[in-house]
This record gives sequence, structure tokens and C-alpha cells, in this order.
Amino acid sequence: MGQDTAVEEVLEFIWSERESGRSSVAALLEIEEVKKEADRSTLDAMCADGLITVESDTVTLTNTGESLAREAIRRHRLAERLLTEVLAMDEESMEKNACSFEHTLTPEVAESICTLIGHPPTCPHGLPIPKGNCCLSTRSEISPLVNPLDRLKVGETGRIIFIVSKQHTRLDKLSTLGIVPGSVVRVHQKRPAFVLQHGETTLALDIDIVKEIYVKTVN
Ligand SMILES: [Zn+2]
Ligand SMILES: [Zn+2]
Repeated sequence: MGQDTAVEEVLEFIWSERESGRSSVAALLEIEEVKKEADRSTLDAMCADGLITVESDTVTLTNTGESLAREAIRRHRLAERLLTEVLAMDEESMEKNACSFEHTLTPEVAESICTLIGHPPTCPHGLPIPKGNCCLSTRSEISPLVNPLDRLKVGETGRIIFIVSKQHTRLDKLSTLGIVPGSVVRVHQKRPAFVLQHGETTLALDIDIVKEIYVKTVN
């Protein structure tokens, strides 16, 4: 694995460790995946390159390190979404492929993927995907392949690609109703309540939940 790739992986680990409230150098170097990529000298080189600072046992991203980590995390989590949900890859092959795939993504390709899969707010593990320019701009040349369900018009049908809810009770409730990736639903009415038709049944769903369901329009 190239040095740049190793640096990128370490930046990603620092970012995700921080999400879990950890910033210890010793703990970072104990992570199995980090051991494979890096040792203390990698961290020293990253300090010299101005990507991180290390003070006693605490590692902190510099502004440069922060934006590189942000981009790397974004690519990684977008790759995960694309591989699991859109290409229907199983968890094990996804883990193997997401890491190598993300390093080949140029910023332009990352934006196209993000747009195609509807600017997902989280990865399949429920971790936030940092937003890119594509997520912030109101118009785009590419029309998304996958959209939040609330974008569909009355009478339109969509196949559920993924659901982004972090609340397990919500996901459980939805799956009891048969609302799972792969199911096909039709928008029956949008106002005053959002009503879906799923097979023979119609069900009213809270709009917050509707926005967490991402679908691909089927004709
Ligand atoms: Zn993930
Ligand atoms: Zn986006």
C-alpha cells in the first residue's frame, strides 16, 4: 500500500476515533488496522507535514489534516453506501472493497456518486457522511437515481434502496410493516398525511420517517 494511502487511512482513523470521543495516540496505535498501516514514524512524518499535532498522548488534526480527513471519510462512507445498497454487496465484500475503492475516487466522481444516491446523510453503519459541495448546492446537472421518498409525487412508485434511520425502534417498526430495502411502495397521498401503499395495505407514515426512506423510482 502506498504511503499516501497509509496517511489517508490514519487520518480517517483519527477522525473516527474523535467521533467516539477518543484522541489518544497510544490507543490509536493499538488499533489493528492502524498497526497494519502505520507506526510512530508515520505519525512523526504526518506531524512534519503539518497534518496533525501530537502533544503528550493527544493527537489533533491541523486545518490541513482536518480537510483531508473529511474528504477521505466522505469518500469511504459514500463508497460503503454505493457498494452495499446500490450494488447490493454483502457486508464482508463491502468492507474489503470500500477501502480500496475510495482511494480511486476523484472529487468529481465522489460528487457524482453522492448525487446519484441522493446525498445520503449517513453510511450503512449510521455514521455521518460529511457534506460535499453537491449536497449544498440547490441545483445539479445530474438528477439523482435515489431520492428520499417524500420527493416522489402522488401515484409514483419506488423501490426502497436504503433507510437511514439511526433509531432502531423506527427501523424495527418499519420492517414489521414490510418497509425494508427491496420493497416497492407507491405514494397514495401526501397531504394532510403521507400515505403509502405497500401491496394490499395502505399506511400513514410520519413525514420525518418518510424522509429517511430512500427510493429509486420504478415505472
Ligand atoms: Zn460505515
Ligand atoms: Zn452530495
